[in-house]
Amino acid sequence: MISVEEALSRLLEPLTALPPEQVSLVDGLGRVLAEDVAARRTQPPFAVSAMDGYAVRAEDVASVPVELRIVAEVPAGAGFGGHVGTGEAARIFTGAPLPAGTDTIVIQEDTERDGDRVRVLEGAPRGRYVRREGLDFAEGEILVRAGRWLTARDIGLLAAMNRPWLFVHRRPRIGILSTGDEIVMPGDPIGPHQIVSSNSLSLAAFVAACGGVPVSAGNAPDDLEALRRIAAATSGVDLLVTTGGVSVGEHDLVREALAADGFELDFWQIAMRPGKPLMVGRYRGTPMVGLPGNPVSTLVCSLLFLKPALDRLSGAIAETEAPATARLGTALPKNDRRQDYLRSRLVQAADGGLEAIPFEVQDSSMMRILAAADCLVVRPPHAPAVAAGTVVPIVRFPGGALPI
Ligand code: AMP
Ligand code: MG
Repeated sequence: MISVEEALSRLLEPLTALPPEQVSLVDGLGRVLAEDVAARRTQPPFAVSAMDGYAVRAEDVASVPVELRIVAEVPAGAGFGGHVGTGEAARIFTGAPLPAGTDTIVIQEDTERDGDRVRVLEGAPRGRYVRREGLDFAEGEILVRAGRWLTARDIGLLAAMNRPWLFVHRRPRIGILSTGDEIVMPGDPIGPHQIVSSNSLSLAAFVAACGGVPVSAGNAPDDLEALRRIAAATSGVDLLVTTGGVSVGEHDLVREALAADGFELDFWQIAMRPGKPLMVGRYRGTPMVGLPGNPVSTLVCSLLFLKPALDRLSGAIAETEAPATARLGTALPKNDRRQDYLRSRLVQAADGGLEAIPFEVQDSSMMRILAAADCLVVRPPHAPAVAAGTVVPIVRFPGGALPI
Protein backbone atom coordinates (compact mmCIF):
# COMPACT_ATOMS: atom_id res chain seq x y z
CA MET A 1 0.00 0.00 0.00
CA ILE A 2 1.22 3.50 -0.79
CA SER A 3 0.15 6.76 0.81
CA VAL A 4 -2.56 9.01 -0.61
CA GLU A 5 0.04 11.75 -1.25
CA GLU A 6 2.37 9.43 -3.16
CA ALA A 7 -0.52 7.97 -5.17
CA LEU A 8 -1.71 11.43 -6.15
CA SER A 9 1.70 12.65 -7.23
CA ARG A 10 2.35 9.47 -9.25
CA LEU A 11 -1.04 9.75 -10.92
CA LEU A 12 -0.55 13.41 -11.85
CA GLU A 13 3.10 13.20 -12.84
CA PRO A 14 2.60 12.06 -16.46
CA LEU A 15 -0.53 14.16 -17.10
CA THR A 16 -0.23 17.38 -19.09
CA ALA A 17 -2.69 20.05 -20.22
CA LEU A 18 -4.71 19.33 -23.35
CA PRO A 19 -4.18 21.63 -26.34
CA PRO A 20 -5.98 24.97 -26.65
CA GLU A 21 -9.06 25.64 -28.73
CA GLN A 22 -10.69 28.94 -29.65
CA VAL A 23 -14.12 29.75 -28.23
CA SER A 24 -16.30 32.84 -28.19
CA LEU A 25 -16.16 34.78 -24.96
CA VAL A 26 -19.38 33.54 -23.31
CA ASP A 27 -18.41 29.94 -24.02
CA GLY A 28 -15.31 30.54 -21.90
CA LEU A 29 -17.35 30.31 -18.69
CA GLY A 30 -16.14 27.34 -16.64
CA ARG A 31 -13.23 26.67 -19.00
CA VAL A 32 -9.52 27.02 -18.27
CA LEU A 33 -7.81 29.92 -20.00
CA ALA A 34 -4.91 28.76 -22.18
CA GLU A 35 -3.25 32.16 -22.71
CA ASP A 36 -2.30 35.27 -20.77
CA VAL A 37 -4.75 37.90 -21.94
CA ALA A 38 -3.73 41.54 -22.30
CA ALA A 39 -6.24 44.40 -22.48
CA ARG A 40 -6.88 45.61 -26.02
CA ARG A 41 -8.20 48.89 -24.67
CA THR A 42 -7.70 51.31 -21.80
CA GLN A 43 -10.66 51.50 -19.42
CA PRO A 44 -12.06 54.06 -19.11
CA PRO A 45 -10.57 55.17 -22.42
CA PHE A 46 -10.88 58.84 -21.36
CA ALA A 47 -11.80 60.67 -18.15
CA VAL A 48 -15.54 60.34 -17.54
CA SER A 49 -18.08 61.61 -15.07
CA ALA A 50 -19.18 59.17 -12.36
CA MET A 51 -22.38 61.15 -11.67
CA ASP A 52 -25.14 63.20 -13.23
CA GLY A 53 -24.30 66.87 -12.55
CA TYR A 54 -22.08 69.66 -13.82
CA ALA A 55 -18.47 69.51 -14.98
CA VAL A 56 -16.62 72.50 -13.54
CA ARG A 57 -13.16 73.87 -12.78
CA ALA A 58 -12.40 73.11 -9.11
CA GLU A 59 -11.17 76.68 -8.42
CA ASP A 60 -14.55 78.05 -9.58
CA VAL A 61 -16.39 76.18 -6.80
CA ALA A 62 -13.80 76.78 -4.05
CA SER A 63 -16.18 79.23 -2.45
CA VAL A 64 -19.92 78.68 -2.63
CA PRO A 65 -22.63 79.53 -3.43
CA VAL A 66 -21.48 80.53 -6.89
CA GLU A 67 -23.25 80.93 -10.22
CA LEU A 68 -21.76 79.47 -13.41
CA ARG A 69 -22.82 79.79 -17.04
CA ILE A 70 -23.76 76.51 -18.79
CA VAL A 71 -21.95 76.32 -22.15
CA ALA A 72 -22.53 72.68 -23.12
CA GLU A 73 -24.57 69.56 -22.46
CA VAL A 74 -22.68 66.23 -22.60
CA PRO A 75 -24.57 62.93 -22.42
CA ALA A 76 -22.78 59.53 -22.32
CA GLY A 77 -21.64 58.51 -25.78
CA ALA A 78 -21.18 62.11 -26.90
CA GLY A 79 -18.34 64.60 -26.55
CA PHE A 80 -17.91 68.37 -26.36
CA GLY A 81 -15.51 69.79 -28.91
CA GLY A 82 -15.11 73.14 -27.19
CA HIS A 83 -13.44 74.35 -24.03
CA VAL A 84 -15.04 75.22 -20.70
CA GLY A 85 -13.55 78.43 -19.34
CA THR A 86 -13.48 80.28 -16.03
CA GLY A 87 -16.97 80.91 -14.64
CA GLU A 88 -18.45 78.27 -16.95
CA ALA A 89 -19.81 74.74 -16.53
CA ALA A 90 -21.06 71.87 -18.69
CA ARG A 91 -24.19 69.88 -17.90
CA ILE A 92 -22.92 66.27 -17.77
CA PHE A 93 -24.28 62.75 -17.28
CA THR A 94 -22.77 59.52 -15.89
CA GLY A 95 -20.29 57.99 -18.33
CA ALA A 96 -19.87 61.14 -20.45
CA PRO A 97 -16.34 62.36 -21.24
CA LEU A 98 -15.15 65.35 -19.25
CA PRO A 99 -15.02 68.44 -21.46
CA ALA A 100 -11.64 70.18 -21.91
CA GLY A 101 -11.06 72.76 -19.19
CA THR A 102 -13.02 70.90 -16.47
CA ASP A 103 -11.59 68.66 -13.76
CA THR A 104 -14.39 68.18 -11.21
CA ILE A 105 -18.03 67.12 -11.07
CA VAL A 106 -20.59 68.83 -8.88
CA ILE A 107 -23.54 66.51 -8.42
CA GLN A 108 -26.94 67.62 -9.59
CA GLU A 109 -28.34 67.43 -6.04
CA ASP A 110 -25.92 70.20 -4.94
CA THR A 111 -27.10 72.69 -7.57
CA GLU A 112 -30.06 74.83 -8.67
CA ARG A 113 -30.65 75.31 -12.37
CA ASP A 114 -31.99 78.54 -13.82
CA GLY A 115 -32.05 78.59 -17.62
CA ASP A 116 -28.47 78.65 -18.92
CA ARG A 117 -27.11 79.29 -15.44
CA VAL A 118 -26.46 76.93 -12.54
CA ARG A 119 -26.06 77.89 -8.92
CA VAL A 120 -23.58 75.62 -7.12
CA LEU A 121 -24.49 75.26 -3.45
CA GLU A 122 -21.81 72.79 -2.30
CA GLY A 123 -18.14 72.91 -3.30
CA ALA A 124 -16.15 69.87 -4.45
CA PRO A 125 -12.42 69.15 -4.29
CA ARG A 126 -10.52 68.77 -7.57
CA GLY A 127 -11.20 65.42 -9.22
CA ARG A 128 -14.38 64.65 -7.24
CA TYR A 129 -16.58 62.15 -9.19
CA VAL A 130 -14.13 62.00 -12.08
CA ARG A 131 -13.08 58.53 -13.26
CA ARG A 132 -9.65 59.17 -14.70
CA GLU A 133 -8.49 57.58 -17.96
CA GLY A 134 -7.16 54.08 -17.20
CA LEU A 135 -8.66 53.98 -13.68
CA ASP A 136 -9.60 50.31 -14.18
CA PHE A 137 -6.79 49.18 -16.52
CA ALA A 138 -4.56 50.27 -19.37
CA GLU A 139 -4.15 48.78 -22.84
CA GLY A 140 -1.46 46.08 -22.87
CA GLU A 141 -1.83 45.10 -19.22
CA ILE A 142 -2.16 41.35 -18.63
CA LEU A 143 -5.22 40.97 -16.43
CA VAL A 144 -6.25 37.32 -16.73
CA ARG A 145 -3.64 34.59 -16.80
CA ALA A 146 -3.41 31.12 -18.31
CA GLY A 147 -4.52 28.33 -16.00
CA ARG A 148 -7.54 30.08 -14.51
CA TRP A 149 -11.04 28.58 -14.40
CA LEU A 150 -13.03 31.43 -15.90
CA THR A 151 -15.82 32.93 -13.80
CA ALA A 152 -18.71 35.16 -14.86
CA ARG A 153 -16.66 38.04 -13.41
CA ASP A 154 -13.73 37.14 -15.65
CA ILE A 155 -16.05 37.07 -18.67
CA GLY A 156 -17.13 40.63 -17.82
CA LEU A 157 -13.55 41.78 -17.40
CA LEU A 158 -12.45 40.14 -20.66
CA ALA A 159 -15.36 41.77 -22.47
CA ALA A 160 -14.31 45.18 -21.10
CA MET A 161 -10.80 44.36 -22.34
CA ASN A 162 -12.38 44.06 -25.81
CA ARG A 163 -11.74 40.34 -26.27
CA PRO A 164 -14.68 38.70 -28.09
CA TRP A 165 -12.95 35.29 -28.19
CA LEU A 166 -10.44 33.30 -26.16
CA PHE A 167 -8.18 30.30 -26.22
CA VAL A 168 -9.13 27.73 -23.59
CA HIS A 169 -7.87 24.20 -23.05
CA ARG A 170 -9.87 21.44 -24.65
CA ARG A 171 -12.16 19.65 -22.20
CA PRO A 172 -10.81 16.23 -21.14
CA ARG A 173 -12.77 13.29 -22.53
CA ILE A 174 -13.09 10.69 -19.78
CA GLY A 175 -14.07 7.13 -20.66
CA ILE A 176 -16.23 5.49 -17.98
CA LEU A 177 -16.48 1.72 -17.88
CA SER A 178 -18.28 0.00 -15.03
CA THR A 179 -17.83 -3.71 -14.41
CA GLY A 180 -19.72 -6.47 -12.66
CA ASP A 181 -22.16 -9.26 -13.51
CA GLU A 182 -24.55 -7.82 -10.93
CA ILE A 183 -24.65 -4.33 -12.43
CA VAL A 184 -27.59 -3.03 -14.49
CA MET A 185 -28.06 0.51 -15.77
CA PRO A 186 -30.88 2.48 -14.09
CA GLY A 187 -34.19 1.74 -15.79
CA ASP A 188 -32.95 -1.40 -17.59
CA PRO A 189 -34.54 -4.83 -16.99
CA ILE A 190 -33.07 -6.21 -13.77
CA GLY A 191 -32.51 -9.84 -12.76
CA PRO A 192 -33.20 -11.33 -9.32
CA HIS A 193 -29.58 -11.05 -8.07
CA GLN A 194 -28.66 -7.77 -9.68
CA ILE A 195 -28.34 -4.16 -8.49
CA VAL A 196 -28.59 -0.81 -10.23
CA SER A 197 -25.34 0.85 -11.22
CA SER A 198 -24.83 4.10 -9.43
CA ASN A 199 -21.16 4.48 -10.36
CA SER A 200 -21.70 4.90 -14.09
CA LEU A 201 -24.03 7.83 -13.52
CA SER A 202 -22.32 9.39 -10.52
CA LEU A 203 -19.03 9.35 -12.41
CA ALA A 204 -20.54 10.90 -15.52
CA ALA A 205 -21.98 13.66 -13.34
CA PHE A 206 -18.70 14.03 -11.46
CA VAL A 207 -16.70 14.36 -14.67
CA ALA A 208 -19.12 16.97 -16.01
CA ALA A 209 -18.93 18.88 -12.70
CA CYS A 210 -15.14 18.95 -13.08
CA GLY A 211 -15.32 20.39 -16.59
CA GLY A 212 -14.74 17.12 -18.45
CA VAL A 213 -16.76 15.28 -21.06
CA PRO A 214 -17.94 11.87 -19.85
CA VAL A 215 -17.83 9.16 -22.50
CA SER A 216 -19.82 6.13 -21.40
CA ALA A 217 -18.40 2.76 -22.31
CA GLY A 218 -21.25 0.88 -20.63
CA ASN A 219 -20.89 -2.03 -18.28
CA ALA A 220 -18.66 -5.06 -18.74
CA PRO A 221 -19.50 -8.43 -17.20
CA ASP A 222 -16.94 -10.21 -15.02
CA ASP A 223 -15.51 -12.09 -17.97
CA LEU A 224 -11.95 -11.68 -19.23
CA GLU A 225 -12.74 -11.66 -22.93
CA ALA A 226 -15.81 -9.41 -22.68
CA LEU A 227 -13.95 -6.97 -20.45
CA ARG A 228 -11.06 -6.84 -22.88
CA ARG A 229 -13.34 -6.23 -25.86
CA ILE A 230 -15.38 -3.48 -24.20
CA ALA A 231 -12.28 -1.73 -22.84
CA ALA A 232 -10.72 -1.77 -26.33
CA ALA A 233 -13.70 0.20 -27.62
CA THR A 234 -12.85 3.15 -25.36
CA SER A 235 -9.88 4.22 -27.50
CA GLY A 236 -9.57 7.94 -28.09
CA VAL A 237 -10.35 9.17 -24.60
CA ASP A 238 -7.85 11.26 -22.61
CA LEU A 239 -8.28 9.16 -19.48
CA LEU A 240 -10.05 5.86 -18.89
CA VAL A 241 -11.84 5.24 -15.60
CA THR A 242 -13.14 1.83 -14.65
CA THR A 243 -15.16 0.93 -11.57
CA GLY A 244 -15.20 -2.38 -9.76
CA GLY A 245 -13.15 -5.48 -10.38
CA VAL A 246 -9.90 -4.14 -8.90
CA SER A 247 -10.09 -5.83 -5.51
CA VAL A 248 -8.60 -9.19 -4.51
CA GLY A 249 -11.51 -11.55 -5.30
CA GLU A 250 -11.51 -14.19 -8.06
CA HIS A 251 -14.03 -12.08 -9.95
CA ASP A 252 -11.91 -8.91 -9.88
CA LEU A 253 -10.60 -9.23 -13.39
CA VAL A 254 -9.87 -5.74 -14.69
CA ARG A 255 -6.12 -5.94 -14.30
CA GLU A 256 -5.79 -9.44 -15.73
CA ALA A 257 -8.12 -8.73 -18.64
CA LEU A 258 -6.29 -5.59 -19.69
CA ALA A 259 -2.77 -6.89 -18.93
CA ALA A 260 -3.08 -9.16 -21.94
CA ASP A 261 -3.90 -6.12 -24.01
CA GLY A 262 -1.32 -3.46 -23.32
CA PHE A 263 -2.10 -2.40 -19.75
CA GLU A 264 0.92 -1.30 -17.72
CA LEU A 265 0.32 -1.09 -13.99
CA ASP A 266 1.89 1.82 -12.15
CA PHE A 267 0.53 1.13 -8.68
CA TRP A 268 -2.35 -0.60 -6.88
CA GLN A 269 -3.71 -0.28 -3.35
CA ILE A 270 -3.66 2.92 -1.34
CA ALA A 271 -3.49 3.26 2.43
CA MET A 272 -6.91 4.86 2.64
CA ARG A 273 -10.50 4.12 3.62
CA PRO A 274 -12.68 4.02 1.65
CA GLY A 275 -10.91 3.24 -1.61
CA LYS A 276 -8.02 0.92 -0.80
CA PRO A 277 -8.03 -1.12 -4.07
CA LEU A 278 -7.50 1.93 -6.37
CA MET A 279 -5.34 1.02 -9.35
CA VAL A 280 -3.44 3.35 -11.69
CA GLY A 281 -1.60 2.65 -14.91
CA ARG A 282 -1.69 3.10 -18.68
CA TYR A 283 -3.92 1.17 -21.02
CA ARG A 284 -2.61 1.23 -24.59
CA GLY A 285 -0.88 4.51 -23.81
CA THR A 286 -3.97 6.13 -22.24
CA PRO A 287 -3.81 6.97 -18.53
CA MET A 288 -6.17 4.72 -16.64
CA VAL A 289 -7.63 4.84 -13.14
CA GLY A 290 -9.31 1.70 -11.81
CA LEU A 291 -11.71 2.78 -9.08
CA PRO A 292 -13.11 0.38 -6.51
CA GLY A 293 -16.72 -0.68 -7.08
CA ASN A 294 -18.31 0.43 -3.83
CA PRO A 295 -20.19 3.59 -4.78
CA VAL A 296 -18.87 5.68 -1.89
CA SER A 297 -15.29 4.56 -2.57
CA THR A 298 -15.76 5.49 -6.22
CA LEU A 299 -16.80 9.04 -5.39
CA VAL A 300 -14.36 9.64 -2.54
CA CYS A 301 -11.51 8.43 -4.78
CA SER A 302 -12.87 10.64 -7.55
CA LEU A 303 -12.75 13.68 -5.32
CA LEU A 304 -9.23 12.94 -4.14
CA PHE A 305 -7.69 11.66 -7.40
CA LEU A 306 -9.92 12.13 -10.42
CA LYS A 307 -10.63 15.82 -9.80
CA PRO A 308 -6.94 16.77 -9.60
CA ALA A 309 -6.34 14.65 -12.72
CA LEU A 310 -9.09 16.51 -14.56
CA ASP A 311 -7.68 19.83 -13.34
CA ARG A 312 -4.27 18.83 -14.70
CA LEU A 313 -5.64 17.75 -18.09
CA SER A 314 -7.75 20.92 -18.24
CA GLY A 315 -4.64 23.06 -17.78
CA ALA A 316 -5.79 24.52 -14.45
CA ILE A 317 -3.11 25.97 -12.24
CA ALA A 318 -4.16 25.25 -8.67
CA GLU A 319 -4.69 28.33 -6.56
CA THR A 320 -3.17 27.85 -3.14
CA GLU A 321 -5.96 27.72 -0.63
CA ALA A 322 -5.57 27.38 3.10
CA PRO A 323 -6.43 23.78 4.02
CA ALA A 324 -9.98 23.55 5.31
CA THR A 325 -10.53 22.58 8.93
CA ALA A 326 -13.43 22.19 11.32
CA ARG A 327 -13.92 21.41 14.98
CA LEU A 328 -15.02 17.88 15.74
CA GLY A 329 -18.52 17.65 17.16
CA THR A 330 -17.80 14.21 18.63
CA ALA A 331 -14.79 12.30 19.95
CA LEU A 332 -13.05 9.84 17.59
CA PRO A 333 -11.02 6.71 18.41
CA LYS A 334 -7.42 6.25 17.26
CA ASN A 335 -6.93 5.39 13.62
CA ASP A 336 -5.15 2.41 12.04
CA ARG A 337 -2.64 2.59 9.17
CA ARG A 338 -5.11 3.73 6.50
CA GLN A 339 -5.99 7.40 6.01
CA ASP A 340 -9.66 7.65 6.82
CA TYR A 341 -12.19 9.92 5.12
CA LEU A 342 -15.25 10.11 7.36
CA ARG A 343 -18.49 11.24 5.76
CA SER A 344 -19.63 14.10 8.00
CA ARG A 345 -22.17 16.83 8.41
CA LEU A 346 -21.05 20.41 8.99
CA VAL A 347 -23.07 22.49 11.41
CA GLN A 348 -22.62 25.98 12.77
CA ALA A 349 -22.04 25.84 16.53
CA ALA A 350 -23.57 28.37 18.93
CA ASP A 351 -20.32 30.42 18.91
CA GLY A 352 -20.38 30.63 15.07
CA GLY A 353 -17.57 28.07 14.54
CA LEU A 354 -17.93 25.17 12.08
CA GLU A 355 -18.43 21.79 13.66
CA ALA A 356 -17.99 18.49 11.79
CA ILE A 357 -20.09 15.57 12.94
CA PRO A 358 -19.10 12.24 11.36
CA PHE A 359 -21.99 9.90 10.56
CA GLU A 360 -22.08 6.95 12.90
CA VAL A 361 -22.13 4.37 10.11
CA GLN A 362 -19.35 4.71 7.53
CA ASP A 363 -20.12 1.79 5.21
CA SER A 364 -18.69 2.44 1.74
CA SER A 365 -21.88 1.23 0.05
CA MET A 366 -24.13 3.87 1.58
CA MET A 367 -24.96 6.49 -1.02
CA ARG A 368 -27.62 8.11 1.09
CA ILE A 369 -25.10 9.10 3.74
CA LEU A 370 -22.60 10.29 1.14
CA ALA A 371 -25.24 12.48 -0.50
CA ALA A 372 -26.24 13.93 2.89
CA ALA A 373 -22.62 14.65 3.86
CA ASP A 374 -21.16 18.15 3.67
CA CYS A 375 -17.53 17.13 3.97
CA LEU A 376 -15.05 14.37 4.69
CA VAL A 377 -13.15 14.50 7.98
CA VAL A 378 -9.58 13.38 7.28
CA ARG A 379 -7.96 11.04 9.79
CA PRO A 380 -4.28 10.52 8.93
CA PRO A 381 -2.73 7.07 9.37
CA HIS A 382 -2.16 6.24 13.06
CA ALA A 383 -3.88 9.44 14.22
CA PRO A 384 -4.40 9.29 18.01
CA ALA A 385 -7.82 9.33 19.63
CA VAL A 386 -9.19 12.87 19.75
CA ALA A 387 -11.75 14.60 21.93
CA ALA A 388 -14.75 16.56 20.71
CA GLY A 389 -13.65 20.12 19.95
CA THR A 390 -10.35 19.11 18.33
CA VAL A 391 -9.66 20.95 15.07
CA VAL A 392 -9.27 18.45 12.23
CA PRO A 393 -8.63 18.70 8.47
CA ILE A 394 -11.67 18.32 6.24
CA VAL A 395 -12.32 18.05 2.50
CA ARG A 396 -15.46 19.85 1.36
CA PHE A 397 -17.57 18.84 -1.59
CA PRO A 398 -17.34 21.70 -4.07
CA GLY A 399 -20.69 23.45 -4.61
CA GLY A 400 -21.86 25.80 -7.32
CA ALA A 401 -23.92 25.31 -10.46
CA LEU A 402 -22.47 21.82 -10.98
CA PRO A 403 -21.95 20.66 -7.40
CA ILE A 404 -19.99 17.58 -6.48
P1 AMP B 1 -16.03 -4.80 -6.72
O1 AMP B 1 -15.02 -3.71 -6.55
O2 AMP B 1 -16.28 -5.12 -8.15
O3 AMP B 1 -15.69 -5.97 -5.90
O4 AMP B 1 -17.38 -4.21 -6.15
C1 AMP B 1 -17.50 -3.85 -4.80
C2 AMP B 1 -18.94 -3.59 -4.44
O5 AMP B 1 -19.40 -2.47 -5.19
C3 AMP B 1 -19.88 -4.71 -4.77
O6 AMP B 1 -20.84 -4.79 -3.73
C4 AMP B 1 -20.50 -4.31 -6.05
O7 AMP B 1 -21.78 -4.87 -6.24
C5 AMP B 1 -20.59 -2.83 -5.91
N1 AMP B 1 -20.53 -2.16 -7.20
C6 AMP B 1 -19.64 -2.38 -8.19
N2 AMP B 1 -19.90 -1.62 -9.25
C7 AMP B 1 -20.99 -0.87 -8.93
C8 AMP B 1 -21.73 0.11 -9.62
N3 AMP B 1 -21.42 0.48 -10.86
N4 AMP B 1 -22.77 0.68 -8.98
C9 AMP B 1 -23.11 0.29 -7.73
N5 AMP B 1 -22.43 -0.61 -7.03
C10 AMP B 1 -21.39 -1.22 -7.62
MG1 MG C 1 -17.20 -6.54 -9.17
